[in-house]
Amino acid sequence: MKAAALSAGAQEDVYTPSASARDLIAAVASFPSKACSDHSAELIDQLRDLEDLKSAVAAAQARIAVVFDLAERRAQAEAGVPAADRGQGVAAQIALARRESPSRGNRLLGLARALVTEMPHTLAALDSGRLNEWRATLLVRETACLSAADRCAVDEELSPHTGTFDGAGDRALIAAARTAAYRRDPRSATQRVSHAAAERHVSLRPAPDTMTYLTALLPVAQGVGMYAALTRHADSLRSAGDTRSRGQLMADTLVERTTGTPRGITGVELQLVMTDRTLLRGGNEPAHLNGYGIVPAAWARTTMNPAGMANSATRTTGSRPGITGGTAGGVVGSAGPGQELRVWVRRLYTAPGTGDLLAVDSSARLFNEGQRRFIEVRDRSCRTPYCDAPIRQVDHVLPWQDAGPTSLWNGAGLCEACNHTKEINGWKATTRTGPTHTIDLRTPTGHTYRSAAPPALGTGSGEPAHAQSRLPRREKRHHIRALKRAHRQPLTA
Ligand SMILES: [Zn+2]
Repeated sequence: MKAAALSAGAQEDVYTPSASARDLIAAVASFPSKACSDHSAELIDQLRDLEDLKSAVAAAQARIAVVFDLAERRAQAEAGVPAADRGQGVAAQIALARRESPSRGNRLLGLARALVTEMPHTLAALDSGRLNEWRATLLVRETACLSAADRCAVDEELSPHTGTFDGAGDRALIAAARTAAYRRDPRSATQRVSHAAAERHVSLRPAPDTMTYLTALLPVAQGVGMYAALTRHADSLRSAGDTRSRGQLMADTLVERTTGTPRGITGVELQLVMTDRTLLRGGNEPAHLNGYGIVPAAWARTTMNPAGMANSATRTTGSRPGITGGTAGGVVGSAGPGQELRVWVRRLYTAPGTGDLLAVDSSARLFNEGQRRFIEVRDRSCRTPYCDAPIRQVDHVLPWQDAGPTSLWNGAGLCEACNHTKEINGWKATTRTGPTHTIDLRTPTGHTYRSAAPPALGTGSGEPAHAQSRLPRREKRHHIRALKRAHRQPLTA
């Protein structure tokens, strides 16, 4: 997963800690102190001390977030922002400062508000280290359906116990909070159920070995019904002689019924990006599948040219010879209903030396399809620092109405929420000149956060297949013969 994390791009904030924070960081960095390093009991004491410190820091961050929220709302009111719109961009700024995604910033601000304004005893337990940030979050979450007054009452009811949660697991903590909440407001259970149904959704997240988890959060009756229908169908196919396992049949049926085709890909596009060496010369540089992440080179080649696709159309578009040295292959697979899987190969060019993707500019206000694809390939996910959300909109970094050109350099892939935040008064994005596409995002407080596009594929450190091509011919022949010999050897334990 390290590669996936790095692929989000080099994103740094331009920030210097205050003197008091620097002193605190230096004090923490001195642990374990030399005097204690030979005494096991003292080392355990230090672990506890630091744990308490983490909790106290979380409590301080909650208080700061609430004060910041109030100050921003006051400033927005003075600037004439309508009451309904005040508070916009606050969570996004907290997220950037805490190096978290915007959606997590929202949750952190909600947690801070609940702790500071409605749950003082829980906040005190966080301050003293008796609860850590995660366990305080559980208490806030389990009382979220209550009115402010009821939440305060539950906080008070639990307060004598907050200290004795020592030794209780997360489940015990949740059970205690839930019991107190249900007792205080029995109707909240019903409201919670109806609220839960409104949260239904389907999500996709990567699993190892080019697999994915497609998860549906559903009301229990629908979930159980779907599972029963898939099981029944799989059982009937197996009794008719299908040799696939029940699990395989259920998964295949789910794909078939959802997409309307046994292949599971119909009228949709998979964007698979790889270097020309990976595509044509058996190179090992991994490819990138949009919406998933990094995939092995061999898997990408097989997906491009699966067995039985001899008649599929393969064509090349978008070639711009003469611009560059290194090239990257942009690959798109798509199929219409009842058609063979079609594969397009688009050539994307990288600047020699820097590996930056290059292409043409446009004088139109809207980004054309080619530019859009290009920016999606370059940015991979939302360009706001720490936001991993998929790209939903290609945005002008310098707005078009401020004479910002419709160019790759002035374009950035953003998720919907971040595009909205960027439009709020006081936010400003600019591109920096330099070899890598870099955006500086300035927030209303005057802080600047930097986002650099992830390195293009095939421009990282060392690509074995590429390196191998530089071997002298004699050495290469020797290498191939050695490989063949190794294949003929029987495997021994
Ligand atoms: Zn975003």
